[in-house]
Order: sequence, then C-alpha cells, then structure tokens
Amino acid sequence: MPVFGLIDGNSFYCSCQRAFEPRLKRKPVVVLSNNDGCAIARTREAKSLGIKMGDPWHFARKRPEARPVVWYSSNYALYADMSRRMYEVLQARVPAVEPYSIDEMFLDLTSLPGDLYERCKNIREAVWREAKIPTCVGWGPTKTIAKLANGLAKDHARLEGLCDLTDPRIRAEWYAVTSIEEVWGTGRQTVKKLQSMGIETVSDFVTLDPKSIRNLLTVVGARVQAELRGQSCLALSDVSSSRKSIASTRTFGRLLTEWPEIREAVAHYAARAAEKLRAEHLESAHLSVLIQTNPHNGDPWYAKHVGAAIEPTSDTRDLIRHATDLAQSVWLPGYRYFKAGVVLTDLRPAGAQGALFSTRAPDLSSAAMAVMDAINARFGSGVVRPSSTGLRRTWTPRASLLSARYTTRLDEIVRARSW
Ligand SMILES: [Mg+2]
Repeated sequence: MPVFGLIDGNSFYCSCQRAFEPRLKRKPVVVLSNNDGCAIARTREAKSLGIKMGDPWHFARKRPEARPVVWYSSNYALYADMSRRMYEVLQARVPAVEPYSIDEMFLDLTSLPGDLYERCKNIREAVWREAKIPTCVGWGPTKTIAKLANGLAKDHARLEGLCDLTDPRIRAEWYAVTSIEEVWGTGRQTVKKLQSMGIETVSDFVTLDPKSIRNLLTVVGARVQAELRGQSCLALSDVSSSRKSIASTRTFGRLLTEWPEIREAVAHYAARAAEKLRAEHLESAHLSVLIQTNPHNGDPWYAKHVGAAIEPTSDTRDLIRHATDLAQSVWLPGYRYFKAGVVLTDLRPAGAQGALFSTRAPDLSSAAMAVMDAINARFGSGVVRPSSTGLRRTWTPRASLLSARYTTRLDEIVRARSW
C-alpha cells in the first residue's frame, strides 16, 4: 500500500522573515501583497490580534490593537529560495518529493524503513533545523488523505504538528468530526450543494453511494470520495515535465499612461520571464501580453490579452521584441494602466527541434544569454540587462517594508559582530 505525506510550512512567508530576525520570535508578523496592498500571511500572534487575510495595510496599521505588529513587504526572492532549501532537506530524506505550492510538498513515504511516526517527526525536525521553517506533516494511503491529515495537524495543537491517518479506524474517528469543507478538491459550490443535502462531515460524504456522487459531482467528486476511502487515484507526479507556462505579471507602483513607460515595463516582464525560461532549460513557442486598467478606481475598464505563436526561443532580445510589438498593438492612449504581464506557453526543452530553420545563430544567442545570466547570478539580478527594460524604472511596485534578500544577495547577508 502506498503512503503519501504532505508537509506544509506554517505561516510560510512570515516564517521566512523570522528565520533571519530572531527578535520576531513570538511577535505578531504580517506579510503584505505586492505594492504593500493587503495582508497575505500572518503568524498565530497576528491572527489573534484580529488581523484578517486581505486586510488593507493602510487601514489595518492604524487600528490600536495592531500596534505591536511587524509588517513586511513581500520578498519573493527570499521565499523562493527558502522553499528550495526546504525541498533540498526533504529530497535528501525521502525517495520522491513533489512541490505542490511554494510551501507545500507531497512526499513518497511508501517504503521507508522503521517507524513512520518517528520518521515524519525527524523529517519535520530536520526542516526546522536546516531550513529554519516550522511545518506540519500529515500522512496516509492517498494524497487527499495526506492533505486532510496535514490540515488536522495544523488545526489541533495537541497533535504537535504530526497527524497519521494510515489506520482506517483512526480515520473514521476524525472523519466523523471533520467538516467536508476541509477536504482538498471540494470548492465552495460543491460544499454548498452537499450541505443542502444534509452532508456535513467527511463521514457523511464517504458513506454515500459512489454512483450518486458521480451523478451529483461528476468523476471529479467520485475520485475525491475514492481517495478518502483509501483508494489511491492520484500519483506523485513528476514536476519537471509538468510546467505548462511561465508568467511575469505585476501591478505598477503607480498608474501609467504613456507608451514609453508601458513599453519599458512590458520589456522588463519579458526579460524576467526569459530568465525563468532559461533557468529551466526551456524555450517557448507562444507569447502573450496583457495590459489593463483598474475598474475599482472608477477608471473605465480596458483590458487586452493578446498572444501569438513565435519561433521557439529563450533569448531575452527576441522575447522583448515580440512582447513589445504585441503590447503596442493593443495599447490605446487616454487610459490609465494599472497592470501588465507577459506569459510564455508552449514550452519545450531548449534546442530540441526547429533549430534547423532558426533565423538566429543558436550558438551566439545562447552564449550571449549564458554570459548575461552568469553575471546576474554572481552580481545580482538585473546588473546586466537590455536598456529597453528601463534605466530609471519609475513604475516598479511599492515595497516600503522590504527585508533583506538574505540568501540570494551577498551584499544583503546577515551581519555578525564581535567585540
Ligand atoms: Mg502553509
């Protein structure tokens, strides 16, 4: 019988900040969305002060009870690198790891020797010791059960961060007291539908006739039920081949009206997407661009998302040219633009095919890009960049509370002092 585990970082973004700031231990910490907009991650202490997900910073910070809160702009360079560290700790200890989100990873625990509880406890401790991320671990015979177990470990302090649902009798006890809302893959509409029929708990759901589940919720619902009954339908997938798109999309730090500014921002997003593409040794054969206004501002709504098939490439210069051409075809004067982005799809391994008919000498192109990537990796992102991506960049998002990028920039490393 297979055993799946799910490990999930507690208040992940906040824990990344805490990893480098010991003074934040036990302090309420909140991380804000892009542009310092609203709360997207909170520690337990911040939650208990009444800070809610999505609370806008400019209101929340003025509330008297929020005075002790330490606020941070989101620092994705730091979070992505901490996620990689967590992944490496896990990969050294289990046969297979599948990242599900930045802070959640499925684990293959099937044929691990020894006591599984002790194993999971050790894995959790290793992630804390080596990556400085507190986590919860849940496990069971299917991915859906592992995900549910993880949620229980998080919600019930007496489980001390670990929840084993491999035993059907223990499962049945938890199912009887757990709401169907906690089940992975049941959206709000599904939950509403089930509750209207008097199905409240996971036990209510698993005891229903599978045929009626299929009629009510299609094969997707039937699969969730089978998984909860202990029949594994979802395998651990190979992530390296599952990437379908690479996107670089941001809201601007202020509203943009002029074409040269928007051109600069779109070129920058194309350059970022190209870097990600090359880091994964891929090329893209389809590029799309989006630009839009902000209707919540009272501005007239204008949004365009246009795409085109392109000659497969990972060259920043090609991608910038395609992206700015497409953006220019939909940009109209008279609007205040709020957001833009570049999305690369139809991804394939670099240099795999079509090189015979390529119009650019592949060796020269990839050599130039490799030199640029190597310099930027050594001296910091954007040290060498196409001038079309802007020299002054007045449109970058606000991030007034940004912490150091401790793990990816040598000049921002933690300083120690001796007397
Ligand atoms: Mg988490």
